[in-house]
Amino acid sequence: MSCTICPRNCKIDRTAAKGFCGCSSVVRVARAALHYDEEPSISGSRGSGTIFFSGCNLKCIFCQNMVLTDGTLGEICDVPRLADIMLKLQSLGAHNINLVTPTPHRDTLTEALRLAKENGLSIPVVYNTNAYETVETIRAFDGLVDIYLPDLKYVDPRLSLKFSRASDYFDTAIEAIGEMIRQVGFMQTDADGIAKKGVRIRHLVLPGCVYDTRNVLDAIKDRFGVDCPISLMSQFTPIPECTIKPLDRPLTQREYENALAYCISLGFTDVYTQDLTSVGRSFTPPFSDHLDL
Ligand code: SF4
Repeated sequence: MSCTICPRNCKIDRTAAKGFCGCSSVVRVARAALHYDEEPSISGSRGSGTIFFSGCNLKCIFCQNMVLTDGTLGEICDVPRLADIMLKLQSLGAHNINLVTPTPHRDTLTEALRLAKENGLSIPVVYNTNAYETVETIRAFDGLVDIYLPDLKYVDPRLSLKFSRASDYFDTAIEAIGEMIRQVGFMQTDADGIAKKGVRIRHLVLPGCVYDTRNVLDAIKDRFGVDCPISLMSQFTPIPECTIKPLDRPLTQREYENALAYCISLGFTDVYTQDLTSVGRSFTPPFSDHLDL
């Protein structure tokens, strides 16, 4: 089968070779556990039942989870094992099942979600993505996913080419996010503030690139309006593997404050902001070839 799951359009047979994402036809999971570092509406008090998949179709040069991006780390999981992991996370009290970088595993995951739901999975399913997605792939999850957490990383194609080798990132991502909003609307929470359904767009402010954060915020406002929930993230942390300026230094507080001031000036009504102590803090959990569940 020729893989066209994401906009990389590798058109390779993943039973015989790996694509840009580093994934063959098997699914590797490098961590499945309750996770407390998402937005409060996702982590809540009991944690988000997070499943970190190995491999990535974007491979940003500043990725904090770089160890996962070549697709080699993690336990191989088939459909029944994935469904079992979801049900175990639910039994541990997770507020939701949070699929991190699920894109290359679309076909296995849609099957696993159907099986888990048949066997009693009832908590919301979160699709946590870099948004470098085709509309067709997002449509494959229609009715299976309750909450989408897409990044919107860049507007400027020079940045997306330099940092993620994807000059078409913005044009592609904005259409995929449009499909997510068509499916589930904007994020809604229950009386306890826990997300039940909908989309929240995330944007990580990059050092030296606040001008493009303004572009991103303008684009969200123009396309989806100021009621679109957003998370303006400050947690960029330089990694030793990335020495390209300006990504070799942390975001400054002044840069984050400038980004936030612009966001507020546009009139967004639902903005999650990170404490400035998040600047430079590592959010990388431990990964492994063997899952504890
Ligand atoms: S999912 Fe992987 S193999 Fe398939 S098109 Fe995307 S990068 Fe290529």
